[in-house]
Amino acid sequence: MVLAYIGLGSNLEDPTGQVNRAFLELDLLADTRLVARSALYRSRAIGPEQPDYINAVAQLETRLAPLDLLDALQSIEQAHRRVRLQHWGPRTLDLDLLLYGHQSIQLPRLTVPHPYLTQRSFVLYPLADIDPNLQLPDGISLQTLLSQCPFEGLARLPENR
Ligand code: AMP
Repeated sequence: MVLAYIGLGSNLEDPTGQVNRAFLELDLLADTRLVARSALYRSRAIGPEQPDYINAVAQLETRLAPLDLLDALQSIEQAHRRVRLQHWGPRTLDLDLLLYGHQSIQLPRLTVPHPYLTQRSFVLYPLADIDPNLQLPDGISLQTLLSQCPFEGLARLPENR
């Protein structure tokens, strides 16, 4: 069993509903269990003018190999009839494999830790909801990354939304 962290994001077609449904779908994946979920956050979009995002992070316990987990994430994205017209553009659901145990993975289809993990407030703050003592495979602590990443443009939403 490996602990994996998934970043969830949506800014189209009821983003909160998309993210909440995705949590349930992650829990239903084969050989996988949803262990913990962060609060939901609202973040300002990067890139072209578009609606705010709803972001969150899921902690999974899984027996799926990294590429099988990526396949599973992509099929959930497809099931949400992901709309994506342009790079950085709006999307119904984006699922990123942020961390897979303590592994560093460099494959054509998969880079872990996720390349944007260290700089994105909408990933780092939700991760801290789940495990504030988290360390990346290279030994850097989540607390160090948070100290370099302002909470700017981010709002933590009240529970039960
Ligand atoms: P995006 O939709 O912008 O998140 O990019 C999806 C593409 O990134 C897919 O083709 C994946 O194969 C690739 N990719 C590389 N590393 C990761 C990762 N850690 N999590 C999710 N997708 C990844």
